[in-house]
Amino acid sequence: MNITIGHLYPDLLNLYGDRGNIRCLTKRLEWRGIESNVIEYKLNDKVDFNECDIFLLGGGSDREQKLVCRELFKIKKDFKKYVEDMGVVIAICGGYQLLGSYYKMNDEKVEGLELVDLYTEQKEGRLIGNITIKSDLFDTPITGFENHGGRTYIGKDVKALGKVITGYGNDGESGYEGVAYKNIIGTYLHGPLLPKNPEVSDYLLTKALSRKYGKDITLDPLDDTAEKRANAYSQKLV
Ligand code: GLN
Repeated sequence: MNITIGHLYPDLLNLYGDRGNIRCLTKRLEWRGIESNVIEYKLNDKVDFNECDIFLLGGGSDREQKLVCRELFKIKKDFKKYVEDMGVVIAICGGYQLLGSYYKMNDEKVEGLELVDLYTEQKEGRLIGNITIKSDLFDTPITGFENHGGRTYIGKDVKALGKVITGYGNDGESGYEGVAYKNIIGTYLHGPLLPKNPEVSDYLLTKALSRKYGKDITLDPLDDTAEKRANAYSQKLV
């Protein structure tokens, strides 16, 4: 078995070590004897959605999001097809915002990919700090760090990734964080997210392998003692 991970615009979208999420995925595959390959797509590269089993869209500053936005309309149609065909995506913060229809800043509007029914608007003050959420998809709470000026509003038929235990989440008011739609996870949690949330890593890998090989695949368990300790420690940071 093998998995190919596509990293979209790593030169622009890579805040707070979001690239570490890919390192985490490839390491967890290697530990299980599964091969992996990473393709980095820079601006102007042609993205082939048949080539990858997981896509990562990391966080970015407003300036970088504006630059990436010009590229998105080129991949929008193929990306939609990939998502509707249960392709796996992990999108963090700025990348999460780009999944929706738009990100409106004071003076400008960044058109999004329209993959999920959500939109983001910048408001006064940034939502910054450590965050822990509880998702129905996982036993262990998910922890990370958030720093965003945008407030994200998800459609009423779209499920949030989880409920906020500590921190701000999507908009600082609703009590919800992120989005889970088909095989997309969108979230404000940096960290990077995956090393201290191994259940989330294995969820993405299981979905990607099962889709690729057309059967339910169960991953061998790993010794996650260090990861669990990091998760527990991070949950205590408020
Ligand atoms: N620029 C966006 C915001 O401030 C996203 C920031 C990020 O990716 N951390 O809301």
